[in-house]
Amino acid sequence: MSVPLPMSVGYHPLYCDGLSPDARFPRERYPKLKARIEKHPDSSQVAWFTPRQATADEITDVHDSDYVQRFLDANLTPKEQRQIGLRPWNPDIIPRTLHLTGGTIQALEFAVAQHGYAGNLAGGTHHAYREHGAGYCIFNDIAIAAIRAIELGFERITVLDLDVHQGDGTASIFTDTPNIQTISVHCQKNYPFRKQQSDLDIPLKAESNDTIYLEATKQALVALEHFGPSLVIYQAGVDGLTSDRLGKLNLSREGLQARNRLVFDCIDALKVPCLVLMGGGYAVPIEDTVEALCDLFIEASIRHLHRQRKETHATL
Ligand SMILES: [Zn+2]
Repeated sequence: MSVPLPMSVGYHPLYCDGLSPDARFPRERYPKLKARIEKHPDSSQVAWFTPRQATADEITDVHDSDYVQRFLDANLTPKEQRQIGLRPWNPDIIPRTLHLTGGTIQALEFAVAQHGYAGNLAGGTHHAYREHGAGYCIFNDIAIAAIRAIELGFERITVLDLDVHQGDGTASIFTDTPNIQTISVHCQKNYPFRKQQSDLDIPLKAESNDTIYLEATKQALVALEHFGPSLVIYQAGVDGLTSDRLGKLNLSREGLQARNRLVFDCIDALKVPCLVLMGGGYAVPIEDTVEALCDLFIEASIRHLHRQRKETHATL
């Protein structure tokens, strides 16, 4: 008889410490979020794991080997560093990036092995292209996880990107990959200003509210169901919050909770594994981001446990 397992979530201290305190990026959101989840009454539904580093081979399955090597050698040009942001860089940006990417690969493997949900308390770095980084993203962990899923035998994968910014890097990497569906719901007048073409893009006007956003989410889920993936990667950025300084949408915490429930209802109906990645969140105060991301991981853990109990019951 198997015992229901809690949802695996990756966390590494370098998620915060690998960034300079002087960088214009709210690096403290990582430990704050971990502490917030640990304080939650349902925190026992989450099993933390410490991610390993991704290997150069895993990363070059998606990225140009020259770019990967120059990053690992701390040899990117100032222009390339500027395009990524997160400056000033400290040497720990390299192990941070490798642990972050490794955490996403391991979370994918947990989701697959347990046929449920698993996550990483970082990642969702959807602006990274094959040959360069951008917008706080160095390597595209979503794309790397999708390729790993194909190696594991999954034939159809959906990347559902509900971050307020378009998943341009992922769309570009998978342009000619019909078995990987890319969907992006985002704010039209926002970064990246030169958009790429996902399989489905739903651009929203600035200041769109919960009602408009949830309608767009439903539309995205219709396309996902129609595609019929055997695995879903959910980039669940919460930077659509009204208080987010980079978002330009007008969403409430409750609206984002409703969004997550719609997504998880759809994934539960399909009975497929789901990798949950946190994506963006730059609210002032940062606690708004932390609360919205805590909601996300707790809801995913509830869904995971529910599925585990059902499957355990079925094997009795
Ligand atoms: Zn974002």
